[in-house]
Amino acid sequence: MIVTRFAPSPNGPLHLGHAYAAIVAHDLARKRGGTFRLRIEDIDGPRSRPELVEEFFLDLEWLGLTWDGEPAFQSRRLASYAEAGERLKAMGLLYPCRCTRAEIAAAATDAGPDGPIYPGTCRHRDVEPLEAAWRLDVTAAMERAGPLEWLDESAGPQVATPQIFGDVVLLRKDLPAGYHLAATLDDAADGITLVTRGMDLFRASHVHRLLQALLELPVPTWHHHGLLVESDGRKLAKRRGSPSLGDRRRAGEDGRAIADALRAHRFPAGISLSQVLDGGP
Ligand code: GLU
Repeated sequence: MIVTRFAPSPNGPLHLGHAYAAIVAHDLARKRGGTFRLRIEDIDGPRSRPELVEEFFLDLEWLGLTWDGEPAFQSRRLASYAEAGERLKAMGLLYPCRCTRAEIAAAATDAGPDGPIYPGTCRHRDVEPLEAAWRLDVTAAMERAGPLEWLDESAGPQVATPQIFGDVVLLRKDLPAGYHLAATLDDAADGITLVTRGMDLFRASHVHRLLQALLELPVPTWHHHGLLVESDGRKLAKRRGSPSLGDRRRAGEDGRAIADALRAHRFPAGISLSQVLDGGP
């Protein structure tokens, strides 16, 4: 039986792109008699706005989507992230780094999916770990894990190449976790068998596959769906005027009709579905 998920971050209100993502994950589960889970990725410090979570629930209900079980909250799972972080440290695969973004940008010679690739400045340095971020030594980690593959339902089998990100931050300086570690641990904890999310995170799956190998977690299949983009090809974003679901709900629009239009790929003028944006295979 498949288990899918929708994992929004309460950093801003949901918009049509989130609705599409939630519908894909929901409908895949429902069509295959599976389970659809909701996870609130609320560990972005001051960017996380708890008051938005209740809005998310109302938005999803308005779209006619129901989820199974209680929603998971990342903020309640910090201890499990910290424990996994300690295991990776004990394997000798993490190192502390206090470099600033500006220092990294000045020293980097290559760009990866998330911007300048960290040039490894602190890899062999003696860095004070207090208030440091912890990076994964990706070369050492890949040597330990050996060759890895993963499967995207649409794009087919993939060879894991987490090296394209360089030594990613796994534990942020303000938290015992970061996106990659938390999402990977949560997908395992929630029994997700089909990781459903947008193509913008396609390449992040290389890192997640490596973490699964290192932490001996079950390996799901992935389903990276297309992203709703504006006519300039950029992802929908509230800050560029895409109305939030909450605004449309309060204005009395019919959420179920909106959901059905998205299912039929009938998008508002100027909006289309891109299969390649930021990280196609
Ligand atoms: N929280 C992420 C977002 O809102 C999604 C992460 C994921 O699906 O793995 O974009």
